[in-house]
Amino acid sequence: MMYSTSANPLDHVAIAVHSIEDSASHFELMSGDVCSPPEILESQGVRVAFVGSIELLEPLSPDTTVGRFLERRGQGLHHIAYKTGDISSELSRLATAGVQLIDEKPRPGANGHLVAFVHPKSTGGILTELVQHTK
Ligand code: ZN
Repeated sequence: MMYSTSANPLDHVAIAVHSIEDSASHFELMSGDVCSPPEILESQGVRVAFVGSIELLEPLSPDTTVGRFLERRGQGLHHIAYKTGDISSELSRLATAGVQLIDEKPRPGANGHLVAFVHPKSTGGILTELVQHTK
């Protein structure tokens, strides 16, 4: 079997943080990238900014998914995301393969992209996101 170009390359790694402003400099220092202006995703209860391929997730309040994650586990790896050209057909393919989906249909994510989450039970314990870039 050949291992060549992956069908769905890694898109980003997301880190849960208490404050984008307080954390960005660590990631800027390591990568040499500059933090993007934060974007509010009300539906997901987060502020989001990117330092290169690192997505920083700051909860809008403690009673959000990321807020509860921070309380339980502290700052750290929240999810990894794969880029796909056709998120709907990927979701069907994974569902057929018996993968447990959190989102059966794509929803709007950061940067206006389409995203869907896959349950960590089906992905080796790591919350996993699929992203289809829309621009
Ligand atoms: Zn993400």
